[in-house]
Amino acid sequence: MKPVVPFIPEAQSHERNVWQRELSASLSDLAELKPFETLSEEERRAARVAIVANPDPAHVAALPNLVWVQSLWAGVERLMSELPEDGPLIVRLADPQMAETMSEAVLAWTLYLHRDMPRYMLQQRQGIWQEHFLKTPAERTVGVLGLGNLGNASAQRLKANGFTVTGWSRSEKTLDGVRCFHGPDGLKQLLGEADIVVVLVPLTDETLGLLGEDEFKACKQDAAIINFARGPVIETGALLGALDAGHLSHAVLDVFDREPLPSDSPLWHHEKVTVLPHISAPTIISTASRLVARNLKAFLEAGTIPDHVDRKRGY
Ligand code: NAP
Repeated sequence: MKPVVPFIPEAQSHERNVWQRELSASLSDLAELKPFETLSEEERRAARVAIVANPDPAHVAALPNLVWVQSLWAGVERLMSELPEDGPLIVRLADPQMAETMSEAVLAWTLYLHRDMPRYMLQQRQGIWQEHFLKTPAERTVGVLGLGNLGNASAQRLKANGFTVTGWSRSEKTLDGVRCFHGPDGLKQLLGEADIVVVLVPLTDETLGLLGEDEFKACKQDAAIINFARGPVIETGALLGALDAGHLSHAVLDVFDREPLPSDSPLWHHEKVTVLPHISAPTIISTASRLVARNLKAFLEAGTIPDHVDRKRGY
């Protein structure tokens, strides 16, 4: 008999049927994927691993023998805050395709800023014909905050496209062709040199409000910000202050304190802000399903648990 793996997606997810179909196909002979609501008492007790996406914590708690959960999301701050510390281990989605997708977005929006597109769009609306001085990519320093799966791939892609790239992480790192900084002093140094700052750190106790008034003051005049990580990593009021004061030139924001972004947010209509609806690196269901199936296979056949979140570190 195939083991049953509970599936606990977000309650209102319109994608749950697609996930159910793709995951079931990827798991095929290995295991039977069953939505939480359809599990028998015995199946709940027998479950040692579950697949989750923003699950109802009560459903996870109703599986008393879970060893780990596989999240279908890369960011797991909500899962960490909702599941008890002595609960199952949390494995986040670390899909190489997602890193590829994110690096494409980072390159696209870096080019958008590099080629002054927000300014030219504004000029068109105002009927202004005016050329601005163009730098080469090498003359443009892009600082990437966070050098994990997504940050590392993005730094490499920027470098391959001729930009001067710096990076910042928690621990000390060496990356070919990328000047690396770490720790609080390293952050100030990176900010002081970057023309474009790309935020790709997870949301943790340490990164909550990471970029506020002091950090924006430490940025170069006319620097631009791209936030593809999580909204609360940036203090929105401080960002608006730095944009309005003319110190920062533009912000591309894909993530917000509240999503969807409330209709009365000043960010919607700010001419120095580009608002994106959390689309920089959506999970690709086909590749993610195959990765999840590989993780489950390693566990069901050999007891191997994939790399999981370090609760103390917060990511
Ligand atoms: P990851 O592999 O865990 O990498 C995180 C990176 O951030 C690491 O380099 C880590 O440093 C660094 N970091 C963590 N805390 C830090 C701190 N306090 N100071 C300095 N550096 C710190 O994560 P990932 O897969 O790249 O994903 C990053 C985040 O992107 C996710 O958590 C998620 O919130 C967000 N995301 C957004 C989207 C979207 O569509 N907008 C999609 C996917 C993910 P070390 O290397 O020293 O550990």
